[in-house]
Amino acid sequence: MDPRLGSATHTALAAPLHPPLAPGAALVEADRCLGCGGLDAAAPCAAACPAEIDVPRFIDQIAAGDDLGAAQTIFAANLLGGTCARVCPVEVLCEGACVLHHEGRKPIAIGLLQRHATDVAFAKREGPVRPVAPRRSERVAIVGAGPAGLVCAGELAARGFTVTVHDEHTEVGGLARYAIAPYRIGSDPLDSERLQIEELGVAFRLGHPIDGEHLEEIGEADAIFLGIGMGADTAIHYPGDGLNGVWESLPFIEALKFGTPPNVGTHAVVIGGGNTAIDVAREAVRLGARTVTLVYRRTRAEMPAFEHEIAEAEDEGVRFAYLTDPVRILGEHHVEGVECLSMSLGEPDASGRRRPQPVTGSERTLIADSVIKAIGQQPHREAAAWFGGLAFDGSRLAIDPTTLQTSNPKVFAGGDVVGGTSVVQAVRDGKHAATAIEEWLCRS
Ligand SMILES: Cc1cc2nc3c(=O)[nH]c(=O)nc-3n(C[C@H](O)[C@H](O)[C@H](O)COP(=O)(O)OP(=O)(O)OC[C@H]3O[C@@H](n4cnc5c(N)ncnc54)[C@H](O)[C@@H]3O)c2cc1C
Repeated sequence: MDPRLGSATHTALAAPLHPPLAPGAALVEADRCLGCGGLDAAAPCAAACPAEIDVPRFIDQIAAGDDLGAAQTIFAANLLGGTCARVCPVEVLCEGACVLHHEGRKPIAIGLLQRHATDVAFAKREGPVRPVAPRRSERVAIVGAGPAGLVCAGELAARGFTVTVHDEHTEVGGLARYAIAPYRIGSDPLDSERLQIEELGVAFRLGHPIDGEHLEEIGEADAIFLGIGMGADTAIHYPGDGLNGVWESLPFIEALKFGTPPNVGTHAVVIGGGNTAIDVAREAVRLGARTVTLVYRRTRAEMPAFEHEIAEAEDEGVRFAYLTDPVRILGEHHVEGVECLSMSLGEPDASGRRRPQPVTGSERTLIADSVIKAIGQQPHREAAAWFGGLAFDGSRLAIDPTTLQTSNPKVFAGGDVVGGTSVVQAVRDGKHAATAIEEWLCRS
């Protein structure tokens, strides 16, 4: 057996963080909703939803026993309503805004109710989720079948445009399929959502990276949407990187999601401070490591990860080594440890965060059988040369924030490639871009 592979079962890795509600429980939960909001002001939960779902309405429909109607309300605003129900950081969005929460009571489980309604709709499958307008002649090419591309495609196809989505992967979903933790999402409901989007008239051309040759073909479309996300892991190298047991975060997650769970050994060290680092650390716990230590060079206050995610990881046993910077990975053939330096915080740097500085003579070693680097992703810089040249603003593709147009007016972009960090932000961008593309095509 490959020594890089562990023995954790897929079932153990994919055990859902928040199990779905039983039908009776959904009714009871929906019944707790106060149904706030009205003609003058949206309910706080709905105002907090980047996808603009009418949350009180769908909850009211569930309470009335109309699960399919609730799903229709959700899909009318968000074609990836099933995916978002599983992966959205509801703690800082709809559920964080719930008035019950502010009264010190348990907020309505909006994510689980949304999952309940959409699951019922996927199981019944009653034809297209939206009315489809008569076919128009204008062609739109979408690069990227991640959340941004899928939503932009579905919205435009429902309005009659001829839409083709191109992706290098053979399956749709982008990071939602290949990177988001299996305890949040598996291949479902993305497969069901793909079917729904196909029923709106979208064509898929999967399994082909877009490169020089295909760019010419795509360039012939009347408008183009780039939802290409970010690229591979950020290339930060440490001496000892090449040892067995050292992983980049994205291949690590992809391996465990697709049936080849990595062998993390007894002691795992995760490098990074964002949500990806937290996910990887929680996955290492599920893979059977006895100690999982996340090293981060600033303090908890500066960590970009969500506070609730840090707290959940702590509850699961992840240890946090703050003000700690890895300098080299130790071992002969396989990882044996990570040499680290303690840090102190100096003056703020360009990002406004206090700059970490090494403390002289503070070297120490963390024992490690595996090291996973989760430091972020690199931008798709190659896109700078596409379609006659596209401008970047730092690591993001530059866009007009109102129209989502790049420096080439025929090319629109959204999602992570323009600075998004979540599925629901990509959904919001996909929707806005579809409206902007429609307006631009109708004017041209
Ligand atoms: C480890 C991890 C965990 C995460 N967890 C969460 C979470 O729990 N909740 C949440 O809301 N968000 C989470 N996110 C963020 C979320 O996944 C992204 O914000 C979201 O997927 C962005 O969508 P997108 O469509 O912009 O890009 P992506 O999902 O990155 O999709 C881009 C697609 O474009 C394709 N592509 C790129 N270049 C080309 C090319 N040249 N030719 C053809 N195809 C191309 C890619 O293969 C990919 O399929 C997580 C991210 C990571 C890395």
